[in-house]
Amino acid sequence: MGTSVFEQVNRWVEEAFSVVGLDDHLYEVLTTTYREISVQVPVPKESGGYHVVRGYRVQHNGARGPYKGGIRYHPDADLDEVRALASLMTWKTALLDIPFGGAKGGVQVDPMQLTTAELEALTRRFTLAISHVLGVYRDIPAPDVNTNAQVMAWMMDAYSSRAGYSPAIVTGKPLDLGGAPGREAATGRGVVYVLEAACKRWGLDLSGMTAAIQGFGNVGSWVATELDALGVRVVAVSDAFGGIRRERGLDVPALRELQREGGPLTDAEGVEPITNEELLRLDVDVLVPAALGNVIRGDNADEVRARIVAEGANHPTSPEGDKVLADKGIRILPDVLANGGGVTGSYFEWTQNIQQFRWKEERFNEELRAKMVEAYEAVADFADAHGIGMRLAAFSLGLERVARAVRLRGYV
Ligand code: NAD
Repeated sequence: MGTSVFEQVNRWVEEAFSVVGLDDHLYEVLTTTYREISVQVPVPKESGGYHVVRGYRVQHNGARGPYKGGIRYHPDADLDEVRALASLMTWKTALLDIPFGGAKGGVQVDPMQLTTAELEALTRRFTLAISHVLGVYRDIPAPDVNTNAQVMAWMMDAYSSRAGYSPAIVTGKPLDLGGAPGREAATGRGVVYVLEAACKRWGLDLSGMTAAIQGFGNVGSWVATELDALGVRVVAVSDAFGGIRRERGLDVPALRELQREGGPLTDAEGVEPITNEELLRLDVDVLVPAALGNVIRGDNADEVRARIVAEGANHPTSPEGDKVLADKGIRILPDVLANGGGVTGSYFEWTQNIQQFRWKEERFNEELRAKMVEAYEAVADFADAHGIGMRLAAFSLGLERVARAVRLRGYV
């Protein structure tokens, strides 16, 4: 059996421990999770009978603030994956220096097999089943793969039916229910803000570069839009059904329109179909994995020809894949840094819900950029000072901050 995803994340945490040098009991605390709940979620089928599925919420570490992390609906969202993603959230929130801990949730289901009414029933039942561990100052979910603002609206409503009106219980909500203008785009924009800061430091000019993006959902489509606006030629994108390529550059606004209308990517004009594997091998300046985990591994990383890999997805690169990329001299902007714009935007939304106040999108984006650039510079300085790569630097810096909070609180 291969290494589990949680074990893979813990390999990076372990390496970070050797950089930072901390006690063994802290290692035990930070390579395991604080609380895990697994619940049964029966959903009545519209056609009769029930889907009976499993849902999870894992809280990894809460020393720096309430637990925070998305909810994913996917057949592979098992306890191991949710643990791994919860751990990543701990390091990410610390790196971005926002007052949250790390958590993640998942329901092991293929949402494409459900009707809208079933999806709503599943969301409400799951929310109530985990509601005793949620709370505005305890644990605050957000969207992730296959969940969106509508799912957050149902979660908020289900939770509020027990606790009273609680907009701050979830982030990534629709604007009409206290969502923050800018939050939906925040993860994708954050990836691009980090990439811009990195190119500045490396003395590279982003405009005129080429990019390939795997995944054209929330994160991928916003990365495409922002890169396109900066004059980057987006030559390939993909989704779960496959990808498309156009060497002259894809018409990103037209693709988004096509997506809104529900058409397949291959309906776009003048494009050639490619597979998701081919997309990873394209000769481009920037490769952005923005779909699922473990797509760049020991067995295929050698074929990656991009100069820069900016990780929009969580855990798109396995430890073996990471080593191959590093040996090839490919510059990596790791997930815990690069996709931290989502949780940073969620932090803005949460604080504004608590204060019943709202920023305009321009202000939101300015503050987001400042946070992303600050985190990028801190990681790059740490990497330079210790002579290590960006991923290890990101984990080490996150670890230092979390360990300090754990100690100050007297937890161990
Ligand atoms: P999403 O559901 O909006 O989009 C996922 C995209 O990936 C879709 O285009 C889907 O078709 C595609 N996809 C699914 N399976 C695929 C496969 N096997 N091969 C290729 N493409 C596939 O999800 P999202 O919110 O955009 O999340 C994407 C990634 O970004 C995830 O790893 C998620 O954890 C990470 N992330 C999301 C946020 C956020 O705010 N939404 C924040 C940080 C990190």
